[in-house]
Amino acid sequence: MTPTRAECERRDRDDPLASLRDQFVLPPGIIYLDGNSLGPPPRSTAPAIQQVITEQWGTDLIGGWNRHDWLTLPIRLGDLLAPLIGVGPGEILVADSTSVNLYKVLTVALQSARARDPQRTVVVSESENFPSDLYIAESVASACGCTLQLSATGGDPLAALDEHTAVLLLTQVDYRTGRLHDMAAATAAAHARGALVVWDLAHTAGALPIDLTRDDADFAVGCGYKFLNGGPGAPGFLWVNPRRAHPAMQPVRGWFGHAAPFEFAVEYRPASGIAGYQSGTPPVLSMVALEHGIRSVLAADALGGLAALRGKSIALTDLFIELVSPLEATHGVRVVSPLDGRQRGSQVSLTHPEDAYAVVQALIDRGVIGDFRAPDIARFGFAPLYTSYVDVYDAAAHLTEVLRTEAWRASQYAVRAAVT
Ligand SMILES: *Cc1c(COP(=O)(O)O)cnc(C)c1O
Repeated sequence: MTPTRAECERRDRDDPLASLRDQFVLPPGIIYLDGNSLGPPPRSTAPAIQQVITEQWGTDLIGGWNRHDWLTLPIRLGDLLAPLIGVGPGEILVADSTSVNLYKVLTVALQSARARDPQRTVVVSESENFPSDLYIAESVASACGCTLQLSATGGDPLAALDEHTAVLLLTQVDYRTGRLHDMAAATAAAHARGALVVWDLAHTAGALPIDLTRDDADFAVGCGYKFLNGGPGAPGFLWVNPRRAHPAMQPVRGWFGHAAPFEFAVEYRPASGIAGYQSGTPPVLSMVALEHGIRSVLAADALGGLAALRGKSIALTDLFIELVSPLEATHGVRVVSPLDGRQRGSQVSLTHPEDAYAVVQALIDRGVIGDFRAPDIARFGFAPLYTSYVDVYDAAAHLTEVLRTEAWRASQYAVRAAVT
């Protein structure tokens, strides 16, 4: 028996995490299923930025750098984020975008692997990986005469590992399907073949428990504006396993990565540890917004933390799958995310036989915000911090209605916006 709306209301009443939703500004009448693309603003973010503008920047001007310790924000926010990804303080840097961070760590990973064994000239990834990651990997590999090798769609990237592999580059949760890689198993497989591993945690951080230390990863990058709710264009992060001892120099050597930036020395001398991965001036206002985003996830600590959030995320996505499954027989809508919640990130992706884009647009018109990923995926993120069981029920009911009435066929829903 599929659950009723009343049963979903009861689950919300019994949900110990339900109060976490109050942390966010969410417009009334909206069911927001796109927090995997851009998390909503925590209520505390706007006042905090306002305060930094008036009481720090507006009062102390340039003195703010010393008086309010803006310089150390990249390290301090890294320390705040560290427990969410299973690493220690001083190991992680908040800076730049995910793409730029990937450029830095992948360059260092490739240099390190080749320094140990010059035969290792191949970066292995999968063709389903997020295109920006593939573009960066291609540019890093080709700059040093190395190659990028991609497993075919649906193939196993681990099967491509051999004595020529320098680095395995994987995104833990597939942005299209939500398929989740087993970090421990893939890392162990790469290490057994003598390769290093770079993980992209863009769709993982803030939604799933991650333990980079336990799983013995080498490098990681991730995104601040998805499940970490840091705001549009929030800085990303990078982590280097301290066992790697920073043997190589990162490629974007700016003054903020210098051991003593204010000596204005002609020669570059890297700061030790993760600080040496900095390039330029940190975006202070964006950092403050990200701090409040990270804190919105840490607020779950008292209620079971990421393990509890993960449990709820699986329950929400299981419920959505159960509610939309009948639509395969009636309207040809297929669930393309793994049906086993343990193999799925915090999203459910559907295909529609004619026009998934128009279906998503018709839903947005009804206040159910998901997104579309080319060529044919309607994608729905279920952030456990603020999504309720009734949200899931109502979203599935709207989807059923949009399909039954063929509302999606209206011509305005075929017009593609720049951001889909
Ligand atoms: C969202 C996402 C990015 C974003 O990169 P930016 O540099 O912040 O634009 C990178 N990689 C993956 C896998 C993503 O999902």
